[in-house]
Amino acid sequence: MNESKKPKPGNRRNRGRGGRRSKQKTSSAAQPKDTKPDRPEAPGAVAGAAPGEGRRGDHDVPTGAPLPADSPFLQMGLSPTMLRSLAAAEYLEPTPIQEGLIPRAMEGGDIMGQAQTGTGKTAAFAIPILEQIEPAGKGVPPQAVVLVPTRELAVQVRDEFAKLARGFRLHLVAVYGGKPIRQQTEQLRRGAEVVVGTPGRVLDLIARDTLHLEHIRVMVLDEADRMLDIGFRPDIEKILRRCPSRRQTLLLSATIPPPVERLAHRYMRDPEMLDFSPKDIGLETIEQYHFSVEPERKFELLVRLLGREEPRQAIIFCRTRRGTEKVHRRLSRKFDAVEAIHGDLAQPVRDRVMRSFREGNTRFLVATDVVGRGIDVTSISHIINYDIPQFCDDYVHRVGRTGRMGREGVAYTFVSPEEGNELTRIEMRINRLLKRDELPGFDALAMPKDREPGEPLPEKPAPKPVFGRRTRRHRRAL
Ligand code: AMP
Repeated sequence: MNESKKPKPGNRRNRGRGGRRSKQKTSSAAQPKDTKPDRPEAPGAVAGAAPGEGRRGDHDVPTGAPLPADSPFLQMGLSPTMLRSLAAAEYLEPTPIQEGLIPRAMEGGDIMGQAQTGTGKTAAFAIPILEQIEPAGKGVPPQAVVLVPTRELAVQVRDEFAKLARGFRLHLVAVYGGKPIRQQTEQLRRGAEVVVGTPGRVLDLIARDTLHLEHIRVMVLDEADRMLDIGFRPDIEKILRRCPSRRQTLLLSATIPPPVERLAHRYMRDPEMLDFSPKDIGLETIEQYHFSVEPERKFELLVRLLGREEPRQAIIFCRTRRGTEKVHRRLSRKFDAVEAIHGDLAQPVRDRVMRSFREGNTRFLVATDVVGRGIDVTSISHIINYDIPQFCDDYVHRVGRTGRMGREGVAYTFVSPEEGNELTRIEMRINRLLKRDELPGFDALAMPKDREPGEPLPEKPAPKPVFGRRTRRHRRAL
């Protein structure tokens, strides 16, 4: 990391908009006065709120009760416009990661934050970005790019930005594969200050001369470990090399394995490390159990468990796309409002399924890890690991889908007699034992009559879990 490139205290970027200089006093700032707004709120201004991403011409100024007088948000030197946006979004108090990250990020330095979704991490980087960038005209290249591993997360992050950017004169565009590139090209041509995208599509747009990175002030690598797992490293490096070296880089990652450290070492300037990892927050509030079950009895166990638990909303995680489809088909015959989501589905179908789940119309969502990770729905009460996750970190991510924003949640993991080691590795990873659960009157370990212990399974089992690098075969299966 190059010390000479460290941002100087006088840099505009270092101060952030309304940064440390303009700290407000709690009592007087309780009702944010807008006598001198940081940003023009001209009619026609809009932060590209979904679904009209990249739209111009709307007018959407947030209203709502002011933040409480003792809200720590008022101590962060945020602009009146942002304070009103927070109030309108009903974000009255910062989450721990927001309290830790926002003031540091507003100073302009590079930050590596260990955090998972469900902690408010998107707003933690969106707020300082929105406070730093300027509304730009048509055709002006973006000032911030957020790289994310999946399409779902791209949409989710863009939506979170849009929620907080109401009242700012900014345009946000999400770019990701599975959607015609023409529409995204058109949105970029119209101008976007913030672009959220998957690395592949971002590179594609750069190659087409549609996306230019020479004005980038802030680059975010969100879920960096996941992006490297999926194999995005070369794309990320190509993108980073095209950004100005005088930029701020924020890296968020649930885990910091050596490849993430190497990436940070190469492309960040003396990053400050902040730890908001799941062992400190998140999974503690979630009840976690396992069932020992013969593979052939898993479906029956699932049906009985759902009957016992009556979840408000549940995600049922399977290891493969085929397995997901199969469980979905069988479950749909037993329950209403069941949907499936996995990497084989066309983007419009994935969008529809996610919308239905978010709106509460879908009760049971059967999913693979690749799409499950980005799901952020606060009313998920149950996570069921129908197949034990391939990677210990996937367990943390799956289970972190519930118990969000302080709500209670419960997670069940189905473990076959051959998967004892995998269960132990998970327990070591989360530093906690998964209590064993049983259903009275149902012997999940009873063999079907026509099979003896040790006999091969009638169906081809899912690929065996590998607790190392994700292979191409595993990626394909998700
Ligand atoms: P994230 O970790 O970014 O996926 O955020 C999880 C959820 O928390 C999202 O639905 C956000 O809209 C919500 N959220 C983020 N910050 C706050 C806050 N300060 N107060 C209430 N909800 C929040």
